[in-house]
Amino acid sequence: MYDLAIIGSGTAGLTAAIYSARADLSTLVLIGEAFGGQIATTNDVENYPGFDDGITGPELTERMRKQAERFGAKFEMNTIVEIDVDGPPFTLTGHGAEYQARAVVVATGASPKLLGVPGELELWGRGVSYCATCDGAFFRGEHIAVVGGGDSALQEALFLTRFGSKISIIHRRDELRAGAYLTNRANENDKIEFIWDTVVEEINGTNGVESLRIRNVKTGEESSLPVGGVFVYIGHRPNTEIFKNKLDMDHEGYLIADHRTHSNVEGIFIAGEAQDNYFRQAITTAGEGCMAAMEAEKFIARLDFEKTEEPVAAAPAAAG
Ligand code: NAP
Repeated sequence: MYDLAIIGSGTAGLTAAIYSARADLSTLVLIGEAFGGQIATTNDVENYPGFDDGITGPELTERMRKQAERFGAKFEMNTIVEIDVDGPPFTLTGHGAEYQARAVVVATGASPKLLGVPGELELWGRGVSYCATCDGAFFRGEHIAVVGGGDSALQEALFLTRFGSKISIIHRRDELRAGAYLTNRANENDKIEFIWDTVVEEINGTNGVESLRIRNVKTGEESSLPVGGVFVYIGHRPNTEIFKNKLDMDHEGYLIADHRTHSNVEGIFIAGEAQDNYFRQAITTAGEGCMAAMEAEKFIARLDFEKTEEPVAAAPAAAG
């Protein structure tokens, strides 16, 4: 039995672990399928406070893990597939193991959205990727496509210029969603070209990606774009399936927490992108992880107080 179980090991979960372990709670972090969450798949993190020269995502999350472990947090590689919210204590079921905790922080984050076109799943890992940091180096000297018009698409396209001979950013509109800083950097980079008002209809290839069938949404014209790889950055969906009918969520599946990270179940707190489809920054999710752990600590202190509190003795009858 742990005081606090944290589901997820991104910046939200890791920060919750640092605060929880440092408050002397026995703390278990259930890592999920891969350690570090989305930030660990980002190469250059340039806006996390305290790192004036930037830091890589894997290094940032590794440092957070060490910081949490220094205070006694435990980490286990398991993905939770079921949660019993009828607690405390709460029971979490993973692959081949069950965990009990008096409080839970949900920090399951979000995953990349898929394009949903023919060839995407078939060529996933063979030219179709959602992580430039992980796979960029496989495409040295090749023409690479990036799909999307937000900050992620531009940031990762810029990273891919280290490897690719040319990067084509395919965006469905003629105006970017990305902010000015990344937009300017992308515009100034000779290796980057934009293909506006265009969507990907099909990804073609036998043993790897060979070309994309693309369609201009204004003219309807279709064409073939020969590329060796395609990186998809079209947003995210929350990893909240297991909480359906257990925790309140909105129509997109984002969990609903109050301004102090409380879910609708007392003792279960929510931090990070599982409940935030607006800010989605490493620093905001870290802040929510801190808040969730502080609230969990108060909740557990209350449970301890209720357990140890002496029953109030009946007042003696008045004399006389
Ligand atoms: P996003 O801002 O939601 O952008 C998604 C992009 O994909 C949009 O341009 C969207 O087009 C396009 N898109 C969505 N569905 C599509 C589809 N089915 N087919 C083709 N295109 C599609 O997602 P994000 O770029 O991952 O960013 C998420 C958050 O993280 C944002 O708040 C962002 O500011 C932040 N972020 C910040 C940084 C940084 O500051 N360095 C880096 C990365 C991410 P439309 O524009 O037409 O909707």
